[in-house]
Amino acid sequence: MNSEYKSIIDRIFALSEQLGNISIMEVCGTHTASIYKYGISDVLPKNIELLSGPGCPVCVTSQIDIEKVISLLRYESVTVCCFGDMLRVPAGDNSLYKMRENGYDVRIITSPLDVLNLAQQNPNRIFVFFAVGFETTAPLTAALLESAKEAGTSNLFVYSAHKTMPNVLRALFSQSNEIDALICPGHVSAITGRRGFEFVAHELNMPAVIAGFGAKDILIAIYYILKMLTANEAKCINAYPSVVREEGNTIAQSLISKVFEPSGAYWRGIGYIENSGLKINSEYSEFDAEQHFEMLYQEANENAACICGEILTAKKKPTDCALFGTVCTPYSPVGACMVSSEGNCASYYKYWKEASWLIL
Ligand code: SF4
Repeated sequence: MNSEYKSIIDRIFALSEQLGNISIMEVCGTHTASIYKYGISDVLPKNIELLSGPGCPVCVTSQIDIEKVISLLRYESVTVCCFGDMLRVPAGDNSLYKMRENGYDVRIITSPLDVLNLAQQNPNRIFVFFAVGFETTAPLTAALLESAKEAGTSNLFVYSAHKTMPNVLRALFSQSNEIDALICPGHVSAITGRRGFEFVAHELNMPAVIAGFGAKDILIAIYYILKMLTANEAKCINAYPSVVREEGNTIAQSLISKVFEPSGAYWRGIGYIENSGLKINSEYSEFDAEQHFEMLYQEANENAACICGEILTAKKKPTDCALFGTVCTPYSPVGACMVSSEGNCASYYKYWKEASWLIL
């Protein structure tokens, strides 16, 4: 084993001997992928468990939101634009991908500003951007709406399924006392700053560490967490200072406040949580797809065998699902967690056979 890793792991083992069983949750799809990729769980003491929470933006997008966006395609002049991962997320038997196969106009974009270009180049069509993601992607959607307003665009709308982290964490941790500490999401923290996660320590009395995405970054975060737990302390430590500042990215924060306001949101597997989403505010309401279109949809049943909801709340693991790796694979995903590369099932599928040796 690399001596740098060994020294951190030795310290983790020493601290763990002073503790009982400890569960540490991460809520970032990139952390989930790194933990599987580097086989981090395999090198930890047996009493330290890593759990993945609702950190994959595609996975947490509710079926209702997908069905509402699909319903817009029944307007002949509407083109739906979304990031590639959203295309394959099932909503019952349907998906945006299937709608596209059936001849409806669904386009993959790589940046929200692509939607403005499309709208300007095709004035006879109406473009709806299906906006998903956390504090990290919301500023990009805000920039799109700011630019669309400045340009006087009238054929562009946004369906906002954006979500924010604080209240889902409050909801999760108030329902469960089985989680002892949090590895905070590095990308979201770059926007919110360390301050944005201070409530985890102060209000929820749990150690929290903002971490980068390499194996060493994650091991250091675990070391800091165990150090706090052995000292009976709850602080929010920034272990990713090269990217995360105390106050975060204030320009991105201003953009979010300029265009959005907090709203309730549905989370897949968790349900409705007050003030955990972002809706377009009254100044930008002319671009709000929910206000402009009548959305007629029927809520379809999710596949009963898919346990994505329990996986997103860390009650179960991908291998607890009877469909994992057989009926459900990244090539034929049955549930949202198998679609995105940041999804827990997809990450586990990708790395389960090869992970351990990457760090050892
Ligand atoms: S393996 Fe597939 S069906 Fe099972 S929980 Fe994961 S996404 Fe759902």
